[in-house]
Amino acid sequence: MCGIVGVFNHPEASRIAYLGLYALQHRGQEAAGIVSVSEGRLQTHRRMGLVGDIFDEPVLDKLPGNMAIGHVRYSTSGASAAKNIQPLVFDYSHGGIAVSHNGNLVNAQVLRSEYEAHGSIFQSTTDTEVIVHLIASQHEKDLLSRIIASLKRVEGAYSLVFLTETKMIVARDPRGWRPLVLGKLGDSYIVASETCALDLVGATYEREVEPGEILVFSKEGMSSHRPFLDPPKKAFCIFEHVYFARPDSEIFGREVYETRKGFGRSLAKEHPVEADMVVPVPDSGVPAALGYSEESGIPFQMGLIRNHYVGRTFIEPTDQIRHFGVKIKLNPAKSLVKGKRLILVDDSIVRGTTSRKIVDMLREAGAKEIHFRISSPPTRWPCFFGIDTPNRSELIAAQQEPEEIRKFINCDSLAYLSVENLFYFNKNHDEWFCDACFSGNFPIPLPDFPDITKVKSDKK
Ligand code: AMP
Repeated sequence: MCGIVGVFNHPEASRIAYLGLYALQHRGQEAAGIVSVSEGRLQTHRRMGLVGDIFDEPVLDKLPGNMAIGHVRYSTSGASAAKNIQPLVFDYSHGGIAVSHNGNLVNAQVLRSEYEAHGSIFQSTTDTEVIVHLIASQHEKDLLSRIIASLKRVEGAYSLVFLTETKMIVARDPRGWRPLVLGKLGDSYIVASETCALDLVGATYEREVEPGEILVFSKEGMSSHRPFLDPPKKAFCIFEHVYFARPDSEIFGREVYETRKGFGRSLAKEHPVEADMVVPVPDSGVPAALGYSEESGIPFQMGLIRNHYVGRTFIEPTDQIRHFGVKIKLNPAKSLVKGKRLILVDDSIVRGTTSRKIVDMLREAGAKEIHFRISSPPTRWPCFFGIDTPNRSELIAAQQEPEEIRKFINCDSLAYLSVENLFYFNKNHDEWFCDACFSGNFPIPLPDFPDITKVKSDKK
């Protein structure tokens, strides 16, 4: 879970990168950083915390230049430590290089062990650093060839933006796991994880960076390269549409808001129930709840009110704080829900702990019945490609059947959208999407996680 941005040929590149990161804050709240180029040198500012707290005018003044890249991080690989904050910055034989990465590699540990056996010393514990070691150790002279040779050795999900003293280079893995879009702002180019970052800076959305495409931005302008001769099947992450991306973004050529509303409509068809109102768990359940309400004709009501000045409760480090966090974040609108039969809609259940607290709160507020509807299938598998999900042992749907989960959450009924109806918009979904978190069908082998086969055998 990360967001990346790159700005080329803009006199205030770091300020544009800052705004882009601001729009991408939902993709990672743990740390952020920007690297710019000025007078032939990379300038860096990286800190733990939120974008708005890390950067201010004096800090941005120290990041001059017309190229900049940035990153917001929530750790999916590598511990949560200052040394892992991106963009990572290195000096190698050809100068400085910085990199921002969204996604997760599945053979980084294998490659890292190889390098360490030959004496390499790693500065961080992230998978991203492996890419830098690969680049530094290639024999090709020019950076593009080194990057291509390196990317041919890594497996997994990567949307990447590199910065050197003279170039910005952008790459997306051949399966296109994570989103990456290209925009234009006058004579400047912007790349970002989501279109909402382009919207904020007033850039026009040109197109996606294609799966397997590498874009080079230099004083000669932009050039596109497609080094993967035998492109594999795509594996767009369906969870971006379910939960992760901002609803005002367009991801993999589809509007997230519309897709989520469609999940809600499908859910209403698949799992109808009589009730007085449809209530979303804000914000993640809102578009799906609207879709459910439209399809069923049952009125939509904001029966839960969210305090917007707290982060996502999931991000908190301990169970104790997480439980406390739900109450800080959500409160029932008591007069609305009292004595009523509710259809409560959320996008997913992960551990079940938040959902249980929400049901408790609604019952305390006097709700008569609570029918929980989830606008995606049970999350039964961890993600190895860049979404932060807990271990399989903590995923409630990996351990329990829906009826047991219903009892744990203490709702009157519980139903999930089926995988088939999740792909209401794409009949050949397995041609294009990775749905491994729901189906257990991992599109590629996982060299760093050999025990997944063991784990797979206990699939329910
Ligand atoms: P819980 O009931 O504790 O499993 O929490 C469910 C909530 O977590 C739902 O509102 C989801 O929107 C949200 N959620 C789903 N996946 C993630 C994730 N990877 N990180 C943070 N929150 C998530």
